[in-house]
Amino acid sequence: MKHLWLFLLAPLLLAQEKVDLYTVNRIKAEEFQNSKVMENAFYLTDVYGPRLTGSPGLKAAAEWAVRRMTEWGLANPGMEKWGPFGRGWTCVHFSGHQKEPQYAPLAGFARPWSPGTNGPVFGEPVLGVLKADADLDKFKGKLKGKMVLLEDPAPLLSETEPALKRFTDAELAAEMLAPDPSARSPFANPIPLIPGQPRPAGVPPFGPAAREAREKFRDKVNQFLTGEGVLLTLSPSYRATSGIVFSAAAGSQDPKRPLPPPSVALEVEQYNRIARLVDEKIPVRLEFDIENKFLDDTQDSFNVTAELPGTSKKDELVMLGAHLDSWTGGTGATDNGAGSAVVLEAMRILKALDLKMARTVRMALWTGEEQGLLGSRAYVKEHFADRETMTLKPEHAKLSGYFNLDNGTGKIRGVYLQGNDMMRPIFQAWLEPFRDYSANTVTIRNTGGTDHQSFDAVGLPGFQFIQDPLDYMTETHHSTADMYDHLQAGDLMEASAIMAAVVYDAATRDEMLPRKPLPKPQPPRREGEAGRPASAGN
Ligand SMILES: [Zn+2]
Repeated sequence: MKHLWLFLLAPLLLAQEKVDLYTVNRIKAEEFQNSKVMENAFYLTDVYGPRLTGSPGLKAAAEWAVRRMTEWGLANPGMEKWGPFGRGWTCVHFSGHQKEPQYAPLAGFARPWSPGTNGPVFGEPVLGVLKADADLDKFKGKLKGKMVLLEDPAPLLSETEPALKRFTDAELAAEMLAPDPSARSPFANPIPLIPGQPRPAGVPPFGPAAREAREKFRDKVNQFLTGEGVLLTLSPSYRATSGIVFSAAAGSQDPKRPLPPPSVALEVEQYNRIARLVDEKIPVRLEFDIENKFLDDTQDSFNVTAELPGTSKKDELVMLGAHLDSWTGGTGATDNGAGSAVVLEAMRILKALDLKMARTVRMALWTGEEQGLLGSRAYVKEHFADRETMTLKPEHAKLSGYFNLDNGTGKIRGVYLQGNDMMRPIFQAWLEPFRDYSANTVTIRNTGGTDHQSFDAVGLPGFQFIQDPLDYMTETHHSTADMYDHLQAGDLMEASAIMAAVVYDAATRDEMLPRKPLPKPQPPRREGEAGRPASAGN
Protein backbone atom coordinates (compact mmCIF):
# COMPACT_ATOMS: atom_id res chain seq x y z
CA MET A 1 0.00 0.00 0.00
CA LYS A 2 2.07 2.78 -1.37
CA HIS A 3 -0.40 5.49 -0.43
CA LEU A 4 -1.41 4.17 2.97
CA TRP A 5 -1.12 7.65 4.45
CA LEU A 6 -3.79 8.87 2.05
CA PHE A 7 -6.06 6.01 3.08
CA LEU A 8 -5.58 6.92 6.74
CA LEU A 9 -6.24 10.55 6.03
CA ALA A 10 -9.44 9.87 4.10
CA PRO A 11 -11.87 9.99 7.05
CA LEU A 12 -10.43 13.36 8.03
CA LEU A 13 -10.79 14.67 4.51
CA LEU A 14 -14.35 13.40 4.34
CA ALA A 15 -15.21 15.04 7.65
CA GLN A 16 -14.15 18.41 6.28
CA GLU A 17 -16.91 19.85 4.11
CA LYS A 18 -15.28 21.84 1.29
CA VAL A 19 -16.24 25.47 0.90
CA ASP A 20 -15.03 27.59 -2.00
CA LEU A 21 -14.24 30.78 -0.11
CA TYR A 22 -13.17 32.64 -3.24
CA THR A 23 -16.66 32.18 -4.68
CA VAL A 24 -18.30 33.07 -1.35
CA ASN A 25 -16.25 36.25 -1.39
CA ARG A 26 -17.41 37.08 -4.91
CA ILE A 27 -21.04 36.40 -3.96
CA LYS A 28 -20.79 38.80 -1.02
CA ALA A 29 -19.15 41.47 -3.19
CA GLU A 30 -21.81 41.15 -5.92
CA GLU A 31 -24.61 41.50 -3.38
CA PHE A 32 -23.12 44.35 -1.40
CA GLN A 33 -22.05 46.34 -4.48
CA ASN A 34 -24.86 45.66 -6.96
CA SER A 35 -27.84 44.58 -4.88
CA LYS A 36 -31.25 44.51 -6.53
CA VAL A 37 -33.05 42.96 -3.56
CA MET A 38 -34.87 46.14 -2.49
CA GLU A 39 -35.81 46.88 -6.08
CA ASN A 40 -37.33 43.40 -6.26
CA ALA A 41 -39.16 44.08 -3.01
CA PHE A 42 -40.46 47.43 -4.29
CA TYR A 43 -42.09 45.81 -7.33
CA LEU A 44 -43.54 42.94 -5.30
CA THR A 45 -45.07 45.28 -2.69
CA ASP A 46 -45.62 48.89 -3.77
CA VAL A 47 -46.32 48.07 -7.41
CA TYR A 48 -48.12 44.70 -7.31
CA GLY A 49 -49.11 44.08 -3.69
CA PRO A 50 -51.17 42.68 -2.12
CA ARG A 51 -50.76 39.30 -3.80
CA LEU A 52 -53.60 37.12 -2.54
CA THR A 53 -53.73 33.80 -4.39
CA GLY A 54 -56.26 34.09 -7.20
CA SER A 55 -56.00 37.90 -7.34
CA PRO A 56 -54.88 40.04 -10.29
CA GLY A 57 -52.06 41.45 -8.10
CA LEU A 58 -50.50 38.02 -7.68
CA LYS A 59 -50.68 37.32 -11.40
CA ALA A 60 -49.10 40.69 -12.24
CA ALA A 61 -46.32 40.10 -9.71
CA ALA A 62 -45.64 36.66 -11.18
CA GLU A 63 -45.53 38.06 -14.71
CA TRP A 64 -43.13 40.78 -13.55
CA ALA A 65 -40.86 38.14 -11.93
CA VAL A 66 -40.84 36.12 -15.17
CA ARG A 67 -39.96 39.25 -17.20
CA ARG A 68 -37.21 40.24 -14.77
CA MET A 69 -35.68 36.74 -14.75
CA THR A 70 -35.81 36.69 -18.54
CA GLU A 71 -33.83 39.97 -18.60
CA TRP A 72 -31.27 38.45 -16.25
CA GLY A 73 -30.86 35.54 -18.65
CA LEU A 74 -32.18 32.73 -16.45
CA ALA A 75 -33.29 29.57 -18.24
CA ASN A 76 -36.94 28.52 -18.61
CA PRO A 77 -38.62 31.28 -16.59
CA GLY A 78 -42.35 30.63 -16.49
CA MET A 79 -45.52 29.95 -14.60
CA GLU A 80 -46.32 26.30 -13.94
CA LYS A 81 -50.01 25.64 -13.43
CA TRP A 82 -51.37 23.74 -10.43
CA GLY A 83 -54.89 23.26 -9.26
CA PRO A 84 -57.59 23.44 -8.55
CA PHE A 85 -57.11 26.25 -6.03
CA GLY A 86 -60.62 27.67 -6.12
CA ARG A 87 -62.07 31.04 -7.01
CA GLY A 88 -60.05 34.23 -7.07
CA TRP A 89 -61.05 37.30 -5.08
CA THR A 90 -60.10 40.96 -5.06
CA CYS A 91 -61.35 44.18 -3.48
CA VAL A 92 -61.59 47.11 -5.91
CA HIS A 93 -63.31 49.70 -3.71
CA PHE A 94 -63.68 50.23 0.02
CA SER A 95 -65.00 53.09 2.06
CA GLY A 96 -66.35 53.08 5.58
CA HIS A 97 -67.75 55.93 7.65
CA GLN A 98 -69.23 56.44 11.09
CA LYS A 99 -72.01 58.99 10.43
CA GLU A 100 -73.57 59.20 13.90
CA PRO A 101 -73.25 60.17 16.71
CA GLN A 102 -70.19 61.98 15.25
CA TYR A 103 -68.52 61.64 11.89
CA ALA A 104 -65.36 59.53 11.63
CA PRO A 105 -63.74 57.90 8.61
CA LEU A 106 -63.27 54.19 9.39
CA ALA A 107 -59.88 52.53 8.87
CA GLY A 108 -60.24 48.95 7.79
CA PHE A 109 -60.71 46.71 4.79
CA ALA A 110 -62.89 44.03 3.26
CA ARG A 111 -62.08 40.53 4.50
CA PRO A 112 -61.13 38.11 1.70
CA TRP A 113 -63.77 36.01 -0.02
CA SER A 114 -66.63 38.18 1.24
CA PRO A 115 -69.02 39.86 -1.22
CA GLY A 116 -69.40 43.63 -1.72
CA THR A 117 -72.35 45.81 -0.75
CA ASN A 118 -73.73 46.65 -4.23
CA GLY A 119 -73.42 50.39 -3.64
CA PRO A 120 -73.50 52.34 -0.37
CA VAL A 121 -75.35 50.75 2.54
CA PHE A 122 -76.37 52.43 5.80
CA GLY A 123 -77.03 50.56 8.98
CA GLU A 124 -77.11 50.28 12.69
CA PRO A 125 -74.49 48.15 14.44
CA VAL A 126 -75.53 45.55 17.01
CA LEU A 127 -73.41 43.25 19.12
CA GLY A 128 -73.73 39.62 17.94
CA VAL A 129 -70.81 37.63 19.27
CA LEU A 130 -70.93 34.18 17.66
CA LYS A 131 -68.36 31.89 19.25
CA ALA A 132 -70.29 28.66 19.75
CA ASP A 133 -73.39 26.83 18.51
CA ALA A 134 -75.44 28.17 21.44
CA ASP A 135 -74.79 31.75 20.24
CA LEU A 136 -76.49 30.99 16.94
CA ASP A 137 -79.71 30.04 18.79
CA LYS A 138 -79.41 33.10 21.01
CA PHE A 139 -79.31 35.54 18.08
CA LYS A 140 -81.78 33.77 15.78
CA GLY A 141 -84.25 36.27 14.32
CA LYS A 142 -82.50 39.29 15.83
CA LEU A 143 -79.90 40.33 13.26
CA LYS A 144 -81.87 40.99 10.06
CA GLY A 145 -80.69 44.11 8.23
CA LYS A 146 -78.09 44.88 10.92
CA MET A 147 -74.37 45.51 10.86
CA VAL A 148 -73.20 42.84 13.28
CA LEU A 149 -70.23 43.31 15.61
CA LEU A 150 -68.84 39.79 15.76
CA GLU A 151 -66.52 40.18 18.74
CA ASP A 152 -66.60 41.61 22.23
CA PRO A 153 -64.46 44.74 22.40
CA ALA A 154 -60.88 43.66 23.15
CA PRO A 155 -58.73 45.71 25.50
CA LEU A 156 -55.86 47.31 23.62
CA LEU A 157 -52.65 45.35 24.20
CA SER A 158 -50.38 47.27 26.49
CA GLU A 159 -47.11 46.49 24.78
CA THR A 160 -44.33 46.47 27.33
CA GLU A 161 -41.81 44.69 25.09
CA PRO A 162 -40.25 46.44 22.10
CA ALA A 163 -42.20 45.62 18.92
CA LEU A 164 -38.98 44.99 17.01
CA LYS A 165 -36.72 42.34 18.42
CA ARG A 166 -33.55 40.49 17.44
CA PHE A 167 -32.48 37.20 18.99
CA THR A 168 -29.96 37.50 21.80
CA ASP A 169 -26.97 35.16 22.02
CA ALA A 170 -28.67 33.41 24.95
CA GLU A 171 -31.84 32.85 22.93
CA LEU A 172 -29.89 31.41 20.01
CA ALA A 173 -27.95 29.16 22.39
CA ALA A 174 -31.29 27.89 23.73
CA GLU A 175 -32.57 27.39 20.20
CA MET A 176 -29.51 25.27 19.46
CA LEU A 177 -30.50 22.71 22.13
CA ALA A 178 -32.58 19.73 21.08
CA PRO A 179 -36.28 20.04 21.93
CA ASP A 180 -37.85 18.18 24.85
CA PRO A 181 -38.29 14.66 23.43
CA SER A 182 -41.56 14.25 25.30
CA ALA A 183 -43.11 17.25 23.50
CA ARG A 184 -45.91 15.91 21.33
CA SER A 185 -45.94 18.26 18.38
CA PRO A 186 -42.85 18.37 16.16
CA PHE A 187 -44.08 21.76 14.95
CA ALA A 188 -44.18 23.31 18.38
CA ASN A 189 -42.56 26.49 17.14
CA PRO A 190 -43.91 27.58 13.77
CA ILE A 191 -41.79 30.68 13.65
CA PRO A 192 -38.56 30.94 15.53
CA LEU A 193 -39.94 31.51 18.97
CA ILE A 194 -37.79 30.62 21.91
CA PRO A 195 -38.56 27.41 23.79
CA GLY A 196 -40.50 28.11 26.91
CA GLN A 197 -41.36 31.61 25.80
CA PRO A 198 -45.10 32.12 25.62
CA ARG A 199 -46.67 32.81 22.27
CA PRO A 200 -46.73 36.59 21.73
CA ALA A 201 -49.96 38.17 22.94
CA GLY A 202 -52.78 37.92 20.46
CA VAL A 203 -51.21 35.24 18.28
CA PRO A 204 -53.77 32.48 17.95
CA PRO A 205 -53.30 28.71 17.93
CA PHE A 206 -52.24 27.11 14.69
CA GLY A 207 -51.91 23.74 13.03
CA PRO A 208 -54.02 21.58 10.76
CA ALA A 209 -56.54 20.50 13.40
CA ALA A 210 -57.16 24.06 14.58
CA ARG A 211 -57.53 25.17 10.95
CA GLU A 212 -60.09 22.47 10.16
CA ALA A 213 -62.13 23.26 13.26
CA ARG A 214 -62.07 27.00 12.48
CA GLU A 215 -63.16 26.49 8.91
CA LYS A 216 -66.04 24.19 9.89
CA PHE A 217 -67.36 26.66 12.42
CA ARG A 218 -66.85 29.54 9.98
CA ASP A 219 -69.05 27.74 7.43
CA LYS A 220 -71.78 27.31 10.02
CA VAL A 221 -71.63 30.96 11.07
CA ASN A 222 -71.62 32.20 7.47
CA GLN A 223 -74.65 30.08 6.64
CA PHE A 224 -76.42 31.49 9.71
CA LEU A 225 -75.52 35.13 8.96
CA THR A 226 -76.63 34.95 5.33
CA GLY A 227 -79.78 33.05 6.27
CA GLU A 228 -80.66 35.70 8.86
CA GLY A 229 -80.28 38.48 6.26
CA VAL A 230 -77.43 40.28 8.01
CA LEU A 231 -76.43 43.46 6.14
CA LEU A 232 -72.71 43.35 6.97
CA THR A 233 -70.33 42.12 9.68
CA LEU A 234 -67.61 43.98 11.55
CA SER A 235 -64.60 42.40 13.25
CA PRO A 236 -61.81 44.07 15.17
CA SER A 237 -58.17 43.42 14.36
CA TYR A 238 -57.56 39.96 15.87
CA ARG A 239 -54.43 41.25 17.56
CA ALA A 240 -55.43 44.31 19.57
CA THR A 241 -52.46 46.40 18.43
CA SER A 242 -52.98 50.15 18.29
CA GLY A 243 -53.84 51.31 14.78
CA ILE A 244 -52.92 48.10 12.96
CA VAL A 245 -55.53 45.72 11.53
CA PHE A 246 -54.73 41.99 11.58
CA SER A 247 -57.42 39.92 9.90
CA ALA A 248 -58.46 36.53 8.63
CA ALA A 249 -60.53 35.43 5.63
CA ALA A 250 -64.29 35.78 6.01
CA GLY A 251 -65.05 33.10 3.43
CA SER A 252 -63.32 30.46 1.37
CA GLN A 253 -61.86 30.11 -2.12
CA ASP A 254 -63.88 26.90 -2.34
CA PRO A 255 -67.07 27.93 -4.16
CA LYS A 256 -68.97 25.06 -2.50
CA ARG A 257 -68.54 26.57 0.97
CA PRO A 258 -71.14 29.08 2.23
CA LEU A 259 -70.69 32.73 1.35
CA PRO A 260 -70.44 35.24 4.23
CA PRO A 261 -72.23 38.60 4.17
CA PRO A 262 -70.06 41.65 3.32
CA SER A 263 -67.34 41.50 6.02
CA VAL A 264 -65.14 44.30 7.32
CA ALA A 265 -62.10 44.25 9.62
CA LEU A 266 -61.59 47.46 11.60
CA GLU A 267 -58.81 48.92 13.65
CA VAL A 268 -59.38 48.02 17.28
CA GLU A 269 -59.83 51.53 18.71
CA GLN A 270 -62.59 52.34 16.21
CA TYR A 271 -64.26 48.98 16.70
CA ASN A 272 -64.22 49.40 20.46
CA ARG A 273 -65.68 52.92 20.20
CA ILE A 274 -68.61 51.58 18.18
CA ALA A 275 -69.09 48.68 20.61
CA ARG A 276 -69.10 51.01 23.65
CA LEU A 277 -71.67 53.29 22.02
CA VAL A 278 -73.88 50.31 21.18
CA ASP A 279 -73.54 49.04 24.73
CA GLU A 280 -74.71 52.42 26.10
CA LYS A 281 -77.66 52.36 23.65
CA ILE A 282 -76.51 55.56 21.95
CA PRO A 283 -77.64 55.37 18.32
CA VAL A 284 -74.79 54.70 15.88
CA ARG A 285 -75.11 54.91 12.12
CA LEU A 286 -72.49 53.52 9.77
CA GLU A 287 -72.06 53.67 6.01
CA PHE A 288 -70.06 51.27 3.86
CA ASP A 289 -69.49 51.08 0.14
CA ILE A 290 -67.55 47.97 -0.85
CA GLU A 291 -66.92 46.44 -4.24
CA ASN A 292 -65.32 42.99 -4.24
CA LYS A 293 -64.91 40.70 -7.22
CA PHE A 294 -65.04 36.93 -7.30
CA LEU A 295 -62.91 35.70 -10.19
CA ASP A 296 -64.27 32.47 -11.59
CA ASP A 297 -62.55 32.39 -14.99
CA THR A 298 -60.08 29.83 -13.67
CA GLN A 299 -59.93 27.69 -10.56
CA ASP A 300 -56.22 27.03 -11.08
CA SER A 301 -53.16 28.80 -9.73
CA PHE A 302 -49.45 28.63 -10.68
CA ASN A 303 -45.95 28.52 -9.24
CA VAL A 304 -43.21 30.68 -10.81
CA THR A 305 -40.04 28.75 -11.69
CA ALA A 306 -36.73 29.41 -13.45
CA GLU A 307 -33.40 27.63 -13.71
CA LEU A 308 -29.66 27.88 -14.02
CA PRO A 309 -28.72 24.75 -15.98
CA GLY A 310 -26.04 22.55 -14.43
CA THR A 311 -22.93 21.26 -16.16
CA SER A 312 -21.69 17.72 -15.41
CA LYS A 313 -24.75 16.64 -13.36
CA LYS A 314 -27.44 18.73 -14.95
CA ASP A 315 -30.17 16.15 -14.32
CA GLU A 316 -29.62 16.63 -10.58
CA LEU A 317 -31.36 19.55 -8.87
CA VAL A 318 -30.88 22.04 -6.07
CA MET A 319 -33.95 24.15 -5.31
CA LEU A 320 -34.59 27.38 -3.48
CA GLY A 321 -37.92 29.05 -2.92
CA ALA A 322 -40.30 31.28 -1.04
CA HIS A 323 -44.02 31.92 -1.28
CA LEU A 324 -45.07 34.74 -3.55
CA ASP A 325 -48.67 34.97 -2.40
CA SER A 326 -49.60 37.24 0.45
CA TRP A 327 -52.41 38.20 2.75
CA THR A 328 -54.41 41.40 2.15
CA GLY A 329 -54.61 44.64 4.11
CA GLY A 330 -50.94 45.47 3.58
CA THR A 331 -48.85 44.63 0.52
CA GLY A 332 -47.29 41.38 1.74
CA ALA A 333 -43.86 42.92 2.37
CA THR A 334 -42.57 40.71 5.17
CA ASP A 335 -44.97 37.83 4.36
CA ASN A 336 -43.47 37.04 1.99
CA GLY A 337 -42.28 39.72 -0.41
CA ALA A 338 -39.07 39.59 1.59
CA GLY A 339 -38.37 35.91 0.93
CA SER A 340 -39.42 36.21 -2.73
CA ALA A 341 -37.16 39.24 -3.27
CA VAL A 342 -34.24 37.32 -1.72
CA VAL A 343 -34.81 34.18 -3.82
CA LEU A 344 -34.91 36.28 -6.99
CA GLU A 345 -31.77 38.10 -5.88
CA ALA A 346 -29.89 34.89 -5.09
CA MET A 347 -30.63 33.69 -8.64
CA ARG A 348 -29.50 37.04 -10.07
CA ILE A 349 -26.20 36.83 -8.16
CA LEU A 350 -25.45 33.28 -9.33
CA LYS A 351 -26.21 34.27 -12.94
CA ALA A 352 -24.36 37.62 -12.81
CA LEU A 353 -21.19 35.87 -11.59
CA ASP A 354 -21.67 33.21 -14.29
CA LEU A 355 -20.79 30.52 -11.76
CA LYS A 356 -20.36 27.03 -13.13
CA MET A 357 -22.36 24.56 -11.07
CA ALA A 358 -22.54 20.82 -11.66
CA ARG A 359 -26.20 20.54 -10.67
CA THR A 360 -29.12 22.51 -12.09
CA VAL A 361 -30.42 25.22 -9.76
CA ARG A 362 -34.18 25.78 -9.86
CA MET A 363 -36.01 28.53 -8.05
CA ALA A 364 -39.70 28.47 -7.21
CA LEU A 365 -42.06 31.15 -5.99
CA TRP A 366 -45.07 29.32 -4.57
CA THR A 367 -48.70 30.39 -4.40
CA GLY A 368 -51.52 29.16 -2.17
CA GLU A 369 -49.15 29.08 0.80
CA GLU A 370 -51.52 31.10 2.95
CA GLN A 371 -54.29 28.56 2.36
CA GLY A 372 -52.15 25.59 3.51
CA LEU A 373 -48.89 25.31 1.51
CA LEU A 374 -51.03 24.36 -1.48
CA GLY A 375 -48.69 25.40 -4.32
CA SER A 376 -45.56 23.72 -2.99
CA ARG A 377 -47.51 20.59 -2.05
CA ALA A 378 -48.97 20.36 -5.54
CA TYR A 379 -45.48 20.86 -7.02
CA VAL A 380 -43.91 18.17 -4.83
CA LYS A 381 -46.71 15.76 -5.73
CA GLU A 382 -46.33 16.49 -9.44
CA HIS A 383 -42.52 16.27 -9.51
CA PHE A 384 -41.28 14.20 -6.59
CA ALA A 385 -43.69 12.06 -4.60
CA ASP A 386 -47.25 11.59 -3.37
CA ARG A 387 -47.12 11.86 0.40
CA GLU A 388 -50.33 9.92 0.83
CA THR A 389 -49.01 6.82 -0.93
CA MET A 390 -45.27 7.57 -0.91
CA THR A 391 -45.15 6.64 -4.59
CA LEU A 392 -41.89 8.19 -5.79
CA LYS A 393 -41.32 9.85 -9.16
CA PRO A 394 -37.91 9.58 -10.89
CA GLU A 395 -37.06 13.19 -9.98
CA HIS A 396 -37.28 12.23 -6.28
CA ALA A 397 -33.86 10.58 -6.65
CA LYS A 398 -32.46 13.71 -8.32
CA LEU A 399 -33.28 16.52 -5.88
CA SER A 400 -30.34 17.20 -3.62
CA GLY A 401 -32.03 19.78 -1.38
CA TYR A 402 -34.53 22.60 -1.06
CA PHE A 403 -33.87 25.89 0.79
CA ASN A 404 -36.76 28.13 1.85
CA LEU A 405 -37.05 31.68 3.17
CA ASP A 406 -40.35 32.70 4.78
CA ASN A 407 -40.10 34.09 8.30
CA GLY A 408 -40.26 37.79 7.57
CA THR A 409 -37.58 40.33 6.83
CA GLY A 410 -35.35 39.34 9.78
CA LYS A 411 -31.67 38.59 9.37
CA ILE A 412 -30.75 34.92 8.85
CA ARG A 413 -29.32 33.64 12.14
CA GLY A 414 -28.81 30.01 11.16
CA VAL A 415 -30.83 27.03 10.02
CA TYR A 416 -33.19 24.34 11.30
CA LEU A 417 -31.83 20.85 10.53
CA GLN A 418 -35.39 19.48 10.53
CA GLY A 419 -34.17 16.48 12.49
CA ASN A 420 -31.42 15.64 9.94
CA ASP A 421 -28.22 15.01 11.97
CA MET A 422 -26.21 14.28 8.82
CA MET A 423 -26.66 17.87 7.64
CA ARG A 424 -25.11 19.39 10.76
CA PRO A 425 -21.42 19.38 9.68
CA ILE A 426 -22.44 20.47 6.19
CA PHE A 427 -24.42 23.50 7.30
CA GLN A 428 -21.77 24.35 9.90
CA ALA A 429 -19.16 24.53 7.14
CA TRP A 430 -21.44 26.40 4.72
CA LEU A 431 -22.42 29.01 7.34
CA GLU A 432 -18.90 29.48 8.71
CA PRO A 433 -18.07 32.30 6.23
CA PHE A 434 -21.18 34.06 7.62
CA ARG A 435 -20.18 33.78 11.29
CA ASP A 436 -19.54 37.52 11.38
CA TYR A 437 -23.17 38.09 10.32
CA SER A 438 -24.11 35.95 13.33
CA ALA A 439 -25.80 33.58 10.89
CA ASN A 440 -24.35 30.29 12.04
CA THR A 441 -26.74 28.76 14.61
CA VAL A 442 -27.43 25.20 13.49
CA THR A 443 -30.23 23.50 15.39
CA ILE A 444 -31.64 19.98 15.13
CA ARG A 445 -35.11 21.46 15.69
CA ASN A 446 -37.98 21.43 13.24
CA THR A 447 -39.79 24.50 12.16
CA GLY A 448 -43.20 24.39 10.55
CA GLY A 449 -45.69 26.62 8.83
CA THR A 450 -43.99 27.00 5.49
CA ASP A 451 -43.08 25.36 2.20
CA HIS A 452 -39.98 23.35 3.13
CA GLN A 453 -42.45 21.07 4.92
CA SER A 454 -43.87 19.94 1.58
CA PHE A 455 -40.42 18.54 0.68
CA ASP A 456 -39.61 17.20 4.16
CA ALA A 457 -42.94 15.35 4.16
CA VAL A 458 -41.76 13.08 1.30
CA GLY A 459 -38.26 12.52 2.66
CA LEU A 460 -36.49 15.22 0.65
CA PRO A 461 -33.98 17.49 2.42
CA GLY A 462 -35.97 20.72 2.85
CA PHE A 463 -34.79 23.51 5.12
CA GLN A 464 -35.96 26.87 6.45
CA PHE A 465 -33.52 29.38 7.92
CA ILE A 466 -33.70 30.78 11.45
CA GLN A 467 -34.52 34.49 11.18
CA ASP A 468 -34.69 37.34 13.67
CA PRO A 469 -38.35 37.90 14.56
CA LEU A 470 -38.18 41.72 14.35
CA ASP A 471 -41.78 43.01 14.27
CA TYR A 472 -43.22 40.03 12.37
CA MET A 473 -45.61 38.71 15.00
CA THR A 474 -46.13 42.04 16.78
CA GLU A 475 -46.91 44.23 13.77
CA THR A 476 -46.71 42.87 10.23
CA HIS A 477 -47.85 39.23 9.90
CA HIS A 478 -51.23 39.37 8.07
CA SER A 479 -51.76 43.03 8.94
CA THR A 480 -52.23 46.44 7.34
CA ALA A 481 -48.67 47.24 8.47
CA ASP A 482 -47.13 44.59 6.21
CA MET A 483 -45.65 47.29 3.96
CA TYR A 484 -42.29 48.04 2.32
CA ASP A 485 -41.35 50.38 5.19
CA HIS A 486 -40.96 47.39 7.52
CA LEU A 487 -38.37 45.70 5.30
CA GLN A 488 -34.77 45.70 6.56
CA ALA A 489 -32.49 46.26 3.57
CA GLY A 490 -29.29 45.09 5.29
CA ASP A 491 -30.91 41.89 6.54
CA LEU A 492 -32.27 41.08 3.08
CA MET A 493 -28.90 41.74 1.44
CA GLU A 494 -27.18 39.36 3.87
CA ALA A 495 -29.92 36.77 3.32
CA SER A 496 -29.44 37.02 -0.46
CA ALA A 497 -25.70 36.39 -0.16
CA ILE A 498 -26.25 33.48 2.25
CA MET A 499 -28.89 31.84 0.05
CA ALA A 500 -26.76 32.24 -3.07
CA ALA A 501 -23.75 30.73 -1.27
CA VAL A 502 -25.69 27.81 0.23
CA VAL A 503 -27.24 26.99 -3.14
CA TYR A 504 -23.82 27.24 -4.82
CA ASP A 505 -22.31 24.94 -2.16
CA ALA A 506 -25.07 22.39 -2.67
CA ALA A 507 -24.93 22.57 -6.47
CA THR A 508 -21.15 22.08 -6.60
CA ARG A 509 -20.85 19.50 -3.79
CA ASP A 510 -19.41 16.10 -4.80
CA GLU A 511 -22.32 14.15 -3.33
CA MET A 512 -26.03 14.89 -3.08
CA LEU A 513 -27.18 15.93 0.39
CA PRO A 514 -27.77 13.15 2.94
CA ARG A 515 -31.40 12.22 3.56
CA LYS A 516 -33.39 11.04 6.55
CA PRO A 517 -35.10 7.64 6.14
CA LEU A 518 -38.18 7.82 3.92
CA PRO A 519 -41.35 8.62 5.88
CA LYS A 520 -44.39 6.36 5.84
CA PRO A 521 -47.41 7.38 3.74
CA GLN A 522 -49.39 10.07 5.56
CA PRO A 523 -53.15 10.54 5.73
CA PRO A 524 -54.47 13.62 3.92
CA ARG A 525 -54.18 16.80 5.95
CA ARG A 526 -53.30 20.42 5.50
CA GLU A 527 -50.38 22.22 6.99
CA GLY A 528 -50.32 25.92 7.14
CA GLU A 529 -49.43 29.13 8.70
CA ALA A 530 -50.05 30.35 12.16
CA GLY A 531 -51.86 33.55 12.59
CA ARG A 532 -55.58 33.06 12.58
CA PRO A 533 -57.75 33.29 15.64
CA ALA A 534 -60.09 30.53 16.75
CA SER A 535 -62.94 32.90 15.94
CA ALA A 536 -61.52 33.91 12.57
CA GLY A 537 -64.55 32.60 10.78
CA ASN A 538 -66.92 34.83 12.63
ZN1 LIG B 1 -48.75 34.51 5.82
